[in-house]
Amino acid sequence: MENKVQAIRIERHGGPEVLQLVAVDLPAPAENEVTIRQKAIGLNFIDIYFRTGLYESALPHGLGFEAAGVVEAVGSAVTHLKPGDRVAYGQSPIGAYAEARNVPAQQVVKLPDEISFEEAAAIMLKGLTVQYLFRQTYRLQEGETVLFHAAAGGVGLIACQWARALGVKLIGTASSPEKMELARQHGAWEMIDYTKENVVERVLELTDGKKVPVVYDGVGKDTWLTSLDCLQPRGLMVSFGNASGPVEGVNLGILAAKGSLFVTRPTLGTHVATQEAMQAAADELFDMVVQKKIKVAIGQRFPLESAADAHIALAGRATTGATVLTL
Ligand code: NDP
Repeated sequence: MENKVQAIRIERHGGPEVLQLVAVDLPAPAENEVTIRQKAIGLNFIDIYFRTGLYESALPHGLGFEAAGVVEAVGSAVTHLKPGDRVAYGQSPIGAYAEARNVPAQQVVKLPDEISFEEAAAIMLKGLTVQYLFRQTYRLQEGETVLFHAAAGGVGLIACQWARALGVKLIGTASSPEKMELARQHGAWEMIDYTKENVVERVLELTDGKKVPVVYDGVGKDTWLTSLDCLQPRGLMVSFGNASGPVEGVNLGILAAKGSLFVTRPTLGTHVATQEAMQAAADELFDMVVQKKIKVAIGQRFPLESAADAHIALAGRATTGATVLTL
């Protein structure tokens, strides 16, 4: 008998209006997959890139990479999960906006009892991102000062708390007094309103003219040059997103001119490519949450069928913290 579930599909790229809730087939899991009955889904800025076509996948396709739920069935080769397990994932094939779905088991981890489904859906992709940004791309040391753009966002509020836990002074940016206050409450050391203040001047001031060894920039086009100007000689520019549009047409000479800078454009997938790497990063993240060093900040919730409204809010800079799609 055919098993149908509700899921979001897009048939073409475009605005939020291209999101459609449709009934799709849910086949039995393949040998290396698990079927997950989902309880909460995480919304991420990358979902907007796939909707608009900035990042491409063969159409028609679903949306989303992050969710939490209960294992309903497992493929014959799956050994680390069983039906009934509470699980989560943050780096699946595209298509998390669904009531239930099949996911490769190596991308799925068991959830500690202390972490709810909503919390897990809010932190898997974003928290694993902060894990690799702070612990792998550039291994932050106690006492360092860093610049982190969009600090009141989904990734941002986790970053503020993780930095505080490491004894790192995080200078954050945000677009309103309310967002700046929220980021401060979550552990940002100082905040700059990048829509009003001169970021380079403020960073010079806050660091006694030293600038910072690393900038984490998920905003992209609008902040690229500012970010480079906030770096110490031989500093590292971590350009990890495009909320304002992608950075394009870079002349490498600019890195020499601004002080022999390094640049990386990392992505989560590379850092959690094996089950072992995924489990190790997730263990570290869950530990931060269970020890209450990171409090999961869910700023807003939308029912799955209102995913388009969630996209409008996220793209319109109207969200703080993580956004969860409920079922
Ligand atoms: P956020 O919740 O941080 O939302 C994006 C924020 O960016 C907005 O709230 C806004 O904050 C800021 N922003 C600045 N300029 C614009 C603009 N023109 N349009 C919209 N927003 C803007 O999103 P996420 O936490 O989901 O992701 C943050 C960034 O990290 C994204 O760029 C995302 O792609 C990237 N990312 C990258 C990963 C990787 O591995 N490479 C993994 C996960 C996320 P404000 O109003 O304060 O300016």
